[in-house]
Amino acid sequence: LRQAVVRPSKIHAAILGITEAFKADSHSKKINLGVGAYRDDKGKPYVLPSVKTAEKKVVDSALDKEYAGITGVPSFTKAAALLAYGPDSAPIKEDIIAITQSISGTGALRIGGAFMERFYPNGKTIYIPNPSWANHNAVFKDSGLKVEKYRYYNKDTIGLDFDGMVEDIKAMPKGSMVLLHVCAHNPTGVDPTEDQWRAICSAMKEGGHFPFFDMAYQGFASGDTDKDAFSLRHFISEGLNPCLCQSFAKNMGLYGERVGAFSIVCESAEEKKRVDSQIKILVRPLYSNPPVHGARIASEILNDASLNKQWLGEVKGMADRIITMRALLKENLEKLGSKHDWSHITSQIGMFAYTGLTAEQMDKLAKEHSVYATKDGRISVAGITTDNVERLAEAIYKVKG
Ligand code: PLP
Repeated sequence: LRQAVVRPSKIHAAILGITEAFKADSHSKKINLGVGAYRDDKGKPYVLPSVKTAEKKVVDSALDKEYAGITGVPSFTKAAALLAYGPDSAPIKEDIIAITQSISGTGALRIGGAFMERFYPNGKTIYIPNPSWANHNAVFKDSGLKVEKYRYYNKDTIGLDFDGMVEDIKAMPKGSMVLLHVCAHNPTGVDPTEDQWRAICSAMKEGGHFPFFDMAYQGFASGDTDKDAFSLRHFISEGLNPCLCQSFAKNMGLYGERVGAFSIVCESAEEKKRVDSQIKILVRPLYSNPPVHGARIASEILNDASLNKQWLGEVKGMADRIITMRALLKENLEKLGSKHDWSHITSQIGMFAYTGLTAEQMDKLAKEHSVYATKDGRISVAGITTDNVERLAEAIYKVKG
């Protein structure tokens, strides 16, 4: 066994490296832009008031701690599907979506990967964007799938390589599985426009490809949960039957509660029954059934009209703070006299921004200015505050000009 256990991967070491280096730095105004979780304007973790109220309701109702069913808390999964697909969606109205609660977004991806490995008839390769969330590769490989990449990010424009992406989709073997980030692409913050999504959908349809959607940031991108679900809903309106991974880590701030869902749009009620049963067969030996507490909180929020309204306001508040910090960072860089075009900072969306800074410049940011983020130039905008944005802009200006 000792021989079989290899060293931690480079990615793991890189993330650990930032946290360790940040902790060890004694600079009083050090900035950590490596974290993948929302922070308030004081740089503190944020528990949403709607979550606090929902949690109190859950605790006060003194429910028992019996096991949930294999697919989780039904009031939660029903409401999660409604949030994602929308009340006007045909498969919602026809009740043909098979859904299971999952251990947040990662668990949803893992169930989805395993399900596709077992049942997808047209090959065992999944195509993911280049770059993608680092864990996609690991999750799908561990599910027994082969992972290939399609072009996504253009480092020259710090934007979408739309032509490359569509070309690659068209060149894939017929009926390929394609992972798509519904919104707020991680790590680039670069999303297709609605028109580009329409064209991507056409290319997917033409190739008879299977859309595998990952939605870790519904509402967190634009502040509007319907707008953020555009790509998913458009594909469905075009007659495609995708699968979907949902996470409530970011949009409800339920990170450690591990609340998510995996769903598949089926062709008929009869197919839904078979898919449901196969999902149960798959989940049972993995973890038997999911934890109930976080799902009960999410269920309260999604099913109680006034709490739901409050939550939507709070999601918008988080999205707006991020959008404001993007604008402030750009404004401060311009005020300092930077001649670079920083428009990508505000055109990108979601928690992360790809700055376009090189690994060397990121290294300098850490060593000379105590600003920590990953070497690929990605910064977590959630780590920016009205207090540190000026100093951050100065640091970036000093290393890049
Ligand atoms: N998918 C993407 C694109 C993500 O960025 C994340 C988290 O950062 C996840 C899925 C899953 O996160 P979690 O398992 O915490 O829901």
